[in-house]
Amino acid sequence: MRNVVIIGSGPAGYTAAIYAARANLEPLVIEGSEPGGQLTLTTMVDNFPGFPEGVMGPDLMANMRAQAERFGAGVMSGHVDRVELGESPFRVFVDEQVFEAGTVIVSTGSSAKLLGIENERRLMGRGVSTCATCDGYFFRGKKIAVVGGGDSAMEESTFLTKFATDVALIHRRDQFRASKIMQDRALSNERIRVHYDTVVEDVLGDDAVTGIRIRDVKKDEVKDLGLDGVFVAIGHNPNTGIFTGQIDLDAKGYIRTRVGTTQTNIPGVFACGDVQDPVFRQAVTAAGSGCMAAMEAERYLEH
Ligand code: NAP
Repeated sequence: MRNVVIIGSGPAGYTAAIYAARANLEPLVIEGSEPGGQLTLTTMVDNFPGFPEGVMGPDLMANMRAQAERFGAGVMSGHVDRVELGESPFRVFVDEQVFEAGTVIVSTGSSAKLLGIENERRLMGRGVSTCATCDGYFFRGKKIAVVGGGDSAMEESTFLTKFATDVALIHRRDQFRASKIMQDRALSNERIRVHYDTVVEDVLGDDAVTGIRIRDVKKDEVKDLGLDGVFVAIGHNPNTGIFTGQIDLDAKGYIRTRVGTTQTNIPGVFACGDVQDPVFRQAVTAAGSGCMAAMEAERYLEH
């Protein structure tokens, strides 16, 4: 029986662990399939307060983990495949193991969205990627495409010009959603060519990507672009599959929390970080909500 079981190990989960551990609650963090979360897939994080020169995402997460462990948090690798939240104590299942918990903090984050084209899935890891930081290096001297019009697409296309000679930025509308500063950075990069009003209809290649088929939706013209890689940067889906039918979710699958709190519809179950935040999705907001979740769990256990 644990006081607090934290599911997920991004900035939200580790911050919850630091606060719960400092409150002597001896929390257990179950890392999940992507230990450290999405920040381990980035390079430099420039906007986390306290690091005037920036900090590498994986280093930031390693430090958060070390800080949680220093105060007595337990961290185990493993993936939660089932939860029973119907009555207290709650039950959290990791492979063959089951943990009982007085409170559960859900910080399972979100995962990259895909275009939903069959060949995209088939060629994943063979030219198709959702992580520029992880795979950019393989495209040194090559031609690639980045799909999307948000901050991620701007950031990834700019980053990828360090490796690729030519980056086709494919966006389905004629205006980017990205912030002005990120747009300007991408648009002023001479290695990036923007294809507005364009959708990807297919990913081409037998064993590896050799190109993409794109449609200009205004002119209704289809053409093939020869290239070696496609980075899909069209946003994320919350990782809430195991909670469906137990925790209240919104229409997009994000956990609903009571305004100004991390409380879910189940007393004693709290949610923090990207899994409950379709709006801000920043490391610092995730960390802030992780702190809130731990403090609310502590109060719940006291009462
Ligand atoms: P996002 O803001 O949701 O943008 C997703 C983009 O992909 C949109 O332009 C969208 O087009 C396009 N898209 C979505 N589904 C598509 C589909 N099926 N086919 C083609 N295009 C599709 O996601 P994001 O860029 O990942 O950013 C998420 C959050 O993280 C934002 O709050 C962002 O500010 C933040 N972020 C911040 C930084 C930073 O500050 N350094 C870096 C990355 C992300 P439409 O515009 O037409 O909807």
